[in-house]
Amino acid sequence: MLEVDLGAGVRAGFTTRAGGVSPHPWDSLNLGLGVRDDAARVRENRARAAGWLGRTAHFATQVHGTGVAVVGTAGDADAGTGPADTVGEADGLVGVDGAGVGVLVADCVPVLLADVPARVVGAVHAGRRGLAAGVVPAVVRAMVRAGADPARVRAVVGPSACGACYEVPATMRDEVAATRPAAWSTTSWGTAALDLPAGVAADLAACGVGDVRRTGVCTLEDERFYSHRRAARSGTTTGRFAGLVALGP
Ligand SMILES: [Zn+2]
Repeated sequence: MLEVDLGAGVRAGFTTRAGGVSPHPWDSLNLGLGVRDDAARVRENRARAAGWLGRTAHFATQVHGTGVAVVGTAGDADAGTGPADTVGEADGLVGVDGAGVGVLVADCVPVLLADVPARVVGAVHAGRRGLAAGVVPAVVRAMVRAGADPARVRAVVGPSACGACYEVPATMRDEVAATRPAAWSTTSWGTAALDLPAGVAADLAACGVGDVRRTGVCTLEDERFYSHRRAARSGTTTGRFAGLVALGP
């Protein structure tokens, strides 16, 4: 786990590949369904992640959009059945009543947020399309509707493809940078790139989020984390790691 500090009483962090039951090429703590890993293994891995979080970890079916689901703790205590695999299609989750929420990634940007006094937490899946469509402000707005004050919110931008690695066609860079200029970047080898973590951080600041932090970890460079692009280069598939956040009891 790469643990992060989102305030007193908040459990938050990013899982690594380590500590799960899935074999190669998902080795080993794959938390993503729909990447051809066995669902029973993924559920066991998710139970291990929830053990670290101290809560059920709710996940959405991510579709690169701007939909946000609000999750409470109803159903968390259902004995024996375990949590549902998904709360439905969404790219942002807001947790209230102490609910734990998570985001699944392998190069896209995971964002975790918390307003401790309001007891509201959030998780965002921000890839290129979601960032450009406005998923970050959509989640902040949903947190505000749940009682959060952006000035009080602490956010962390998690491990993701960095602006020196995430090569894209120049036309794509121009399209995204037209609305998210902070994302304009160049690879370390001089070609067009997008800096999605910088774009996300700029969106958070524009929403008035008072405390924006970055892990600075690049998934393409740090093999502790799953990377879709690194796997594709070697002709294989890979798993998904998670950002997880919950308030303590
Ligand atoms: Zn990088």
